[in-house]
Amino acid sequence: MQYLKESTLLRIDEYRLADDILFVVDKTMIEPLNGILNQLQPGLCFKLNNPQGWLTYMDMELCKNRNGNIISRLARKSSTTYNYIKWFSFHPMYQKKGIVLGILKRIVKLCSVQYRWGDFNFYRKYFLLNGYPPNFIDKCWSQIKDSNWPPRVTSNFFVKLPYLGKNSEILKRKISDNNIGITMVGGKNVGPGLPSLYKSIPNLKQKETVYEIGCQDCSAIYIGETGRPLEKRIDEHRNALYRDDTEYSRVADHCIRFNHWPNFDNIKVRGHGKTKFERRIKEGILREIAGKNAINKVNPIIIKDQNLAFSHFVQFL
Ligand SMILES: [Zn+2]
Repeated sequence: MQYLKESTLLRIDEYRLADDILFVVDKTMIEPLNGILNQLQPGLCFKLNNPQGWLTYMDMELCKNRNGNIISRLARKSSTTYNYIKWFSFHPMYQKKGIVLGILKRIVKLCSVQYRWGDFNFYRKYFLLNGYPPNFIDKCWSQIKDSNWPPRVTSNFFVKLPYLGKNSEILKRKISDNNIGITMVGGKNVGPGLPSLYKSIPNLKQKETVYEIGCQDCSAIYIGETGRPLEKRIDEHRNALYRDDTEYSRVADHCIRFNHWPNFDNIKVRGHGKTKFERRIKEGILREIAGKNAINKVNPIIIKDQNLAFSHFVQFL
């Protein structure tokens, strides 16, 4: 940019959003500037696309009016479907309102004054086609077209609740404030209630697992991970136990020391992980949760923050 300014010795106004740059230069400078840009990098070729009228830049279309000022309106891309959440669909009202307000706000922010009404009517037509009542759209419009929007207040904590219709919205209004925000998610789907069409793989045949072996005679549990089929690793534990090898397997070590026996008939798969690292993290979290009952001693991953550990745990499994 500095180079361009120095080599043309002309005033170039520059507007930029990340790597989308808009130059505003004198009309006579367009050709020379294009020439300079094309010399910069041999592989890069800039073409002049001389739009008589509107130029698309990001979400806007720009043009120069008779006084030489730049005017803007919302770009209408042919790929836009104007398909929004339908008014009659089972969604919280704040989400539907958010869609309408979001688009109307963009009109007010990005359009020159003379195009606002036209763009509003353009989108109003599509809101109506998506089932939104006319008075709802008009109310949203009057709410934002002239007002100074207050800075957006975001709550410190969010609670996720299932959306169960109108009562959920009443509940949300009653309990949300600056400290606690409520966000609504879909209720139960039909899917999980139906039997799966895929055959479930028995625990012992699964790969890349984090598994748990309990002790039959006390509350101790062993949590381990393996990338191979689980049955192979379990066989190794079993064999270590048969040959009194306390070094190779912690399960064997525990059982030999206390004369206990592992519950090989009920081996649980507690999680999966494609990489050893991922499995080790999960393993560490599960051990942390098992607390004193965990009998692993090798390579413990120490998690200092219990809350953090728990939130990761919830995410992972
Ligand atoms: Zn035991």
